Amino acid sequence: MIHFVGAGPGAKDLITVRGLKLLKEADIIIYAGSLVNPRLLEDAKEGCRIFNSAHMTLEEVLEVMEEGERSGRMTVRLHTGDPCLYGAVREQMDILDAKGIVYDSCPGVSSFCGAAAALNLEYTLPGISQSVVITRMEGRTPVPEKESIASFAEHGATMVLFLSAGLLAELTEQLLRGGYQEDTPAAVVYKATWPEEKSWLCTVGTLVETARRHGVDRTALIIVGDAAAQSGYERSRLYDPEFTTGYREGNGTGKEPCAGCRKGLCEERLHKDECIRGKC
Ligand code: SAH
Repeated sequence: MIHFVGAGPGAKDLITVRGLKLLKEADIIIYAGSLVNPRLLEDAKEGCRIFNSAHMTLEEVLEVMEEGERSGRMTVRLHTGDPCLYGAVREQMDILDAKGIVYDSCPGVSSFCGAAAALNLEYTLPGISQSVVITRMEGRTPVPEKESIASFAEHGATMVLFLSAGLLAELTEQLLRGGYQEDTPAAVVYKATWPEEKSWLCTVGTLVETARRHGVDRTALIIVGDAAAQSGYERSRLYDPEFTTGYREGNGTGKEPCAGCRKGLCEERLHKDECIRGKC
């Protein structure tokens, strides 16, 4: 059996309980050495064979897995963050499928969650943005044309950019072309949750300078959008004393406001009186 396991963003104790259990039981561990914290390997059992996939091709990785299967061993394929993002897992799984080798996946804490934690950031602030665009600049891996940074930037939503810290001049140009402003809040988070973690709040216009000043050109995430400023948001409906939820009786009308009320466009505001649905 092969287990694809998310190692988490860096800190040794940010792997899941399930992931750690699998790691401790593994006969073979193939870890993505460029970003997985090697301290996680301290938990491998005596005699476990450990491979660093940074030095291996897809074929070599598969060879180790196949050999493990033949000898009845359990393999953990350890990927950084969560394997579902830029993990190159599908190509491994397709070959395993073709060979009839069974595998499963154990999720991990992605670095975009680690980066939010580094800044105590909420990506989805009411009234600011309710969406997070996870994307990257084109590198050796092409990005489909319809997924250009500029087209995503048009939404003004929160954006988290992977694999792009070395391409900040081009990134800035595309963000501005898409509609973000020079003063749109942004952040650079280097090695989130690692002991050497560093993070800087800046703006779209100062992204290049911020990364250059601190010598960051890899292992970083770029966060863009008004949510990075963490201000100017609306308070949540869920915890508003006026509103009734499935778990709590509110002291207001108990009705959800219409879109007009929410934007403060109605003459009769829900908070004062009653929302005149449809007339707003
Ligand atoms: N599957 C991983 C992403 C792998 S792609 C995940 O879920 O996080 C590798 C890119 O992820 C890096 O170039 C960098 O942009 C980002 N990254 C990974 N770990 C990071 C960390 N601890 N801090 C900041 N960025 C990180």
